[in-house]
Amino acid sequence: RFITFEGGEGSGKSTQIKTLAERLNAAKLRAIVTREPGGSPGAEVIRHLVLSGMGKLLGPDAETLLFAAARDDHVRTVIKPALSQGIWVLCDRFSDSTRAYQGSMGKVAPEVLNAMERVTIGDLKPDLTIILDIPVEIGIERAAARRGAGAPDRFEAENLKFHQDLREAYRQIAAREPERCVLIDANADAATVAAHVWTALRDRFFT
Ligand code: C5P
Repeated sequence: RFITFEGGEGSGKSTQIKTLAERLNAAKLRAIVTREPGGSPGAEVIRHLVLSGMGKLLGPDAETLLFAAARDDHVRTVIKPALSQGIWVLCDRFSDSTRAYQGSMGKVAPEVLNAMERVTIGDLKPDLTIILDIPVEIGIERAAARRGAGAPDRFEAENLKFHQDLREAYRQIAAREPERCVLIDANADAATVAAHVWTALRDRFFT
């Protein structure tokens, strides 16, 4: 099974993924946790490039091609091999991030994104996508607290409007593909959110 987690800054994706992996392992199901951009040695190099702000030197299409190159490597070397061995793959961000961040902001045309998806993921589709939804101000506060005194990365530093549009983009994805996506209110304590995540899995895979 291929499960992706999506959401804006401070939505708690990494905490929830970790909890879910522990829960699957406790149920004797093998699961790996991975992330995008990154997740494979080659893709992690690209992650470093795009998050360092290097992408700003490029146009939006070129920057998105970097994300696509990272995804291509990650899918080929990590995700597909694990799935073919029957291992559950839990991925922190996937193609919906590209749709939300690079697509819905109107910077990259849908046909460009479609072409990139054909190359990078083909017909690989998540079996379930958990979208963690949180009011923008709360998410930004959480992300800042996690970062401590460190500088925000390029994307965290975008303005409030950017994060609001992003949230809306995710909500639209969830509404458009209700069979694949579950929108979960992430403005609650971690245990409550984890219980909702588990219910989403149970409804789909264990009933
Ligand atoms: O998952 P995490 O929040 O660490 O993601 C790293 C950063 O990359 C985020 O700040 C996110 O905004 C950005 N990103 C992006 N476009 C993507 C994927 C991630 O701008 N397709």
